[in-house]
Amino acid sequence: MLINVDRFKKTMEQVNEIAVTSEGGVNRLALTDEDLQARQLLKAWMDEEDMAFRFDDAGNMYGTLEGSDPDQPSVCVGSHLDTQPNGGKYDGALGVLSGLEVIRTIRENNITTRRSIELINWTNEEGARFEPPLIGSGLVAGIFEKDWVHNLQDRNGIRFKDELVRIGYLGDESNRLNNAHAYLEMHIEQGPVLEKEGFPTGLVTGILGIKWFDITITGQADHAGPSPMSSRCDALMSTANILMKLKEHILNYGDPIVVTVGQISASPGTTNIIPGQVKFTVDLRHYTEKGLENLEKEMIEIIDAVCSKEGTSYEIAKLWSNPPTKFDDNIINTVEEAFKESNVPVFKITSGAGHDAKYISDIIPTGMLFVKSIGGKSHCPEEHSTYEDMGQAIQVLLSSVLKLAQ
Ligand SMILES: [Zn+2]
Repeated sequence: MLINVDRFKKTMEQVNEIAVTSEGGVNRLALTDEDLQARQLLKAWMDEEDMAFRFDDAGNMYGTLEGSDPDQPSVCVGSHLDTQPNGGKYDGALGVLSGLEVIRTIRENNITTRRSIELINWTNEEGARFEPPLIGSGLVAGIFEKDWVHNLQDRNGIRFKDELVRIGYLGDESNRLNNAHAYLEMHIEQGPVLEKEGFPTGLVTGILGIKWFDITITGQADHAGPSPMSSRCDALMSTANILMKLKEHILNYGDPIVVTVGQISASPGTTNIIPGQVKFTVDLRHYTEKGLENLEKEMIEIIDAVCSKEGTSYEIAKLWSNPPTKFDDNIINTVEEAFKESNVPVFKITSGAGHDAKYISDIIPTGMLFVKSIGGKSHCPEEHSTYEDMGQAIQVLLSSVLKLAQ
């Protein structure tokens, strides 16, 4: 049974004709008229496949292709149709429309699976209009409260709930997804690894956990001229030393462990004064809880060693953390079999970014597939994946769904 890449391509192109930006990106912010147009297309395509349709209190859309044993928990496939303001054509849409292609293939081959198959479009995955991201899947997974979600406002003070009502997508809480057998999400990688390693698609085993810190290094401000180098207590030079050592340490771990210092400021911040204090942020990511704890400890050791050597002092404040996600072993094994059955080489990869699958994996056995991103670019008009690669991945998705639904 083969999926139809041409049909899938046409479907993607139809959705991406909506709200094209002058730079060739797409602008389908959540719960806007453009989002509604994409939703209407999806709804019409679900109708064509005789799928039962419902939406819940976050506006998440569900189309169900009934199985021969509809009382069994369903197999779900989904992602999101919303985009960044000048986003790419594949982020999100690939996951929803590849699920549609799987259903079309199953239907045209007159196959009835034992379990029902649900196709899902999660609301406001991007968080570009209503912050934070992953709102629809987060509500379903119990991460967010309903009232809190409904009262979120965009930059113009427009409420999430009012926009749901305006576009006709405020549904009932009882329509939320519950008790499914499996959830599968296909997504573009948004990074360079698959391209570098030469694989069209990747089997995602989990999502990196994150720890954020605010760090302050304190030295002694002094005149830039009369103070000899040997007698200084320079907070910025200490920081530079810390950052180089931290980078080396993380490089020794190898992929996919990463560290990022995204903000830094020195004070008093004048050309001819030795910086007395430096503040910077650290974003640490690892795929296991223990690994993340070790990274934190090792970072503190590095800071402590540099500061005691150089006579500076430090303060570390924990800002935020998000635990790693480990996808379900049974799902991973099933998808791995599907790779082999589809003659697609298996490459296991960890996701560095969050996806709806992250929250859904808290309540349903979950797995993910990545498709190679050309140049690793995403959230921009240059975002690109080939239909050849997407086609191979959808073939794996079809095989996975059939295995899980029988
Ligand atoms: Zn996405």
